[in-house]
Amino acid sequence: MSVKNKAALVTGAASGIGRRIAEVLADNGAHIAVADINPAAADATVAEIRRRGVKSTAVLMDVTSEEQVEAGVAKTVKDLGSVDILVSNAGVQIVNPIENFAFADWKKLLAIHLDGAFLTTRACLKRMYAAGQGGSVIYMGSVHSKEASRLKAPYVTAKHGLIGLAKVVAKEGAAHGVRANVICPGFVRTPLVEKQIPEQARELRISEDDVIKKVMLKDTVDGEFTTVDDVAACALFFAGFGSNALTGQSIVVSHGWFMQ
Ligand code: NAD
Repeated sequence: MSVKNKAALVTGAASGIGRRIAEVLADNGAHIAVADINPAAADATVAEIRRRGVKSTAVLMDVTSEEQVEAGVAKTVKDLGSVDILVSNAGVQIVNPIENFAFADWKKLLAIHLDGAFLTTRACLKRMYAAGQGGSVIYMGSVHSKEASRLKAPYVTAKHGLIGLAKVVAKEGAAHGVRANVICPGFVRTPLVEKQIPEQARELRISEDDVIKKVMLKDTVDGEFTTVDDVAACALFFAGFGSNALTGQSIVVSHGWFMQ
C-alpha cells in the first residue's frame, strides 16, 4: 500500500486540486509528471516537487490532442522510467442555461473532460500492460458525477460519463492488475471555483455570498468547502491501494453533500 518510487502522471497538475495531488504523491515518494496546458505554471510545480527529493518532469499537454497526449506519455516514461499511476484531473467549467449554451462550449467541455480521460487512459494503459507491474487510474469526477445542478449541462454529463469509463477500465484492466476509480469532490476553492462565483451570481441574480451559502454549500452537513488536501488524501489512498479489491468505485468527498 505505497506509492514510493512509482511514477505518476497528473493532468492539470499546474493548479488547484491536481497540483496538490502531485505534491502529496511526491511527499510519499512518487515521481511526478506534471502535465498541463500552462507551461509556466507546470514548471513552477515541477520545481516545487523536486524540492521533495523525487524526480519530476513537466509535460506540455493539451489533453484533447491525441498527438500531445501520446508524446506526453512517451516523455513521462522516458524521464521517469515508467507510468504506474494516472490521475486524469484536467478540467474546466463553463456555466450557462441550456437554452443559451453554445454548441462550441458544449463540445469544448466534453473534449477536455471525456476525450482527455480517454486519450490519457489509452496511452497509459498500453505502458502499464507492457510493464506488467499493474497500475492505478484515478479520474477526477465530482459530486456532479452523481447529482445535477442548474447551468452545468455538459459538466454534469461529462462527470457522470467518467464513472462509466472507470468501470470499463476496471473490468479490462483487472487481468493486468490495473485498477480504476473516481474521486467525486464537492466545491473546493480553486481558480475554477473562484471564477464561477461571480458568474453564477450574475446568472442566478443573487449575491456572491448567496452563491456560496445557498448554492455551493447548501447541502453540506456543515457549510464547509472541501479542500485540496481532502481530495489529495483520497487520491493517495486510491493510488497506493494494493489489489483489485478496490476498483470500479467512486468516492464522494464533499462534507456530506450527496450521500449514496
Ligand atoms: P483549476 O482551474 O485550479 O486547475 C485546472 C488545471 O487544468 C489548470 O492547471 C489548467 O491549466 C489545466 N487544464 C485546463 N484545460 C486543460 C487541457 N485541455 N489540457 C491540460 N490541462 C488543462 O481547477 P481545479 O478546481 O483544480 O479542477 C481540477 C479538476 O477537479 C477538474 O476536473 C474539475 O472538474 C474537478 N473538480 C473541481 C472541483 C472544485 O470545486 N474545484 C470540484 C469537483 C471536481
